[in-house]
Amino acid sequence: MVASALNHMDLWLRQGLPRPGRLPMVPGCDGAGTVSEVGEGAGPWAPGDEVVVNPSIACGHCPACLADRSVDCAQWGILGEHYWGTHGEEVVVPGANLVRRPPGLSWEESAAYGLCALTAYRMLQRARLRAGERLLVVGAGGGVASMAIAIGARTGAEVLATSRHEAKRRRALELGAAEAFATGGPVPVKADVVVDSSGSATWAASVRSLARGGRLVLCGATGGARVELDLARLFYSQQEVIGSTMGTYREFAEVTKLVADGLPVVVDSVHRLADYPSALDRLGAGDQFGKVVLDHRGVTTTT
Ligand SMILES: [Zn+2]
Repeated sequence: MVASALNHMDLWLRQGLPRPGRLPMVPGCDGAGTVSEVGEGAGPWAPGDEVVVNPSIACGHCPACLADRSVDCAQWGILGEHYWGTHGEEVVVPGANLVRRPPGLSWEESAAYGLCALTAYRMLQRARLRAGERLLVVGAGGGVASMAIAIGARTGAEVLATSRHEAKRRRALELGAAEAFATGGPVPVKADVVVDSSGSATWAASVRSLARGGRLVLCGATGGARVELDLARLFYSQQEVIGSTMGTYREFAEVTKLVADGLPVVVDSVHRLADYPSALDRLGAGDQFGKVVLDHRGVTTTT
């Protein structure tokens, strides 16, 4: 590993949510590095190849995998949750879970885009966001939210964002949002697609922001998983609530191409691997905009 990136998963894992099947456990979903060894049947890789790791692992040969629905594979799992992850000196992954590092990206950017871009991309695919529609991204600042803003703008949607922080609202505008509002305040327009993974904290406001025919898509519930929903309003307004997580192998290849073509990867800060606890604290405090990245260079490998 040359660099890896932090995700909310790492905070959950530190709290034992979920409790790892066995200890010790290496966390970390995202990362980039060079191939050091290639096992039999691992594909076209050779030592020295510069690669990015796709954290969404599936078996590759079941009916779901063969139908391009690897997220529905019975053996589907996430690197750093179900498998030893990327916050170590080395990681072992299936050859299918590597892509070539996009030219022109720094190691930090290469390590940072995987999970958040994959998740945001699939969410907007599932919500069927089209050019000319209005997208509201709630809670700009996290990796998925900043990617949703950038991908939405690139799709040709009118992107709105909310954040509690003035500085994050400014950054959202730089990423392509047309307007940014304070979280909790009124959003004066309705959106065709709302991206909100904050859970119960922002749920009511997000549902109120849905236009007729609107789709609310979520990939998490960081602020609480129990919400109330007015079903009459939902069906009368032809609205949808869509759950989504991670993405397929095809979708990972597609976001890698988007990033290679210039989709911005926002790195909040870079920490040394040895400073892992303070990097986690940075993420836990919620003050970041974009990805918190670990630089593994300078770590002595003991193997
Ligand atoms: Zn499968």
